[in-house]
Amino acid sequence: MNKCEIITIANQKGGVGKTTTAVNLSASLAYKGKKVLLIDADPQSNATTSLGIYRNDVEFYLYHVLTDSKKLSQIIKKTDTKNLFLAPSNIGLVGFEKEFYNKRTQGRELILKKKIAEVTEDYDFIILDSPPALGPLTMNALSASDSVLIPIQCEFFALEGLAQLLSTIKMLKEQINPNLSIKGFLPTMYASQNNLAKQVIYDLSQHFDKYMFKDINSQNLTIPRSVKLAESPSFGKPILLYDMRSNGSIAYQNLAEAILQGV
Ligand code: ATP
Ligand code: MG
Repeated sequence: MNKCEIITIANQKGGVGKTTTAVNLSASLAYKGKKVLLIDADPQSNATTSLGIYRNDVEFYLYHVLTDSKKLSQIIKKTDTKNLFLAPSNIGLVGFEKEFYNKRTQGRELILKKKIAEVTEDYDFIILDSPPALGPLTMNALSASDSVLIPIQCEFFALEGLAQLLSTIKMLKEQINPNLSIKGFLPTMYASQNNLAKQVIYDLSQHFDKYMFKDINSQNLTIPRSVKLAESPSFGKPILLYDMRSNGSIAYQNLAEAILQGV
């Protein structure tokens, strides 16, 4: 039987490359023949627009699923990338966060997990993009996942907040989702000529080598700083469709390969 793997892309720090990773990892897995559902669990809906899906194309969003007016399968959209499907989000998703805090009921972290359970048989991978906060949406995403992939921007404050994220993951594992594992840390926006970036990679591999993705040469896998990666969302395309041979595109294909090899 086909086992669906569910991965949340999370880091409560903003602008570290979560959405870029969610979109381009999803597209790269799809390109390698896997059937992939990307769930946009962020009210900013950057993953939705990055795939060229705009307000006029969509009637129902993740908000409608989380509030029981639609099934997840009813909101899923095809994308221009073969094998890649999207559960779109919009700003209305902030409404879910408000309702969450008003609900004192048990199990409010498991709402998304129940919705996802209805579609797991249809996909090889489900990737969730999460907002820059450890709030209800990120908690729901992590509670529904097998693992979490943490993009880390190669800059001075990179490791700040990582301890908090790791302790939240530990708490969540103890209390809600014992199966949650750390898929890996992914250094993003890496510029090899930048000494600070090199230092960040060095520090990460000193403390967390087992969480670093490796390329086929056993080197730490990093996502380069790339203008093409930054441009592609404005064309509504993953990097694979925008500039397949760019170094950013190749890096995300290598990440997909590392994940398929089961690191
Ligand atoms: P948020 O916390 O707001 O959801 P995020 O963590 O999802 O942000 P992204 O939206 O993926 O981060 O990236 C932030 C900005 O950096 C975007 O403008 C994006 O295009 C750009 N960016 C991401 N990765 C790269 C890269 N490797 N090279 C160059 N620019 C990048
Ligand atoms: Mg984002």
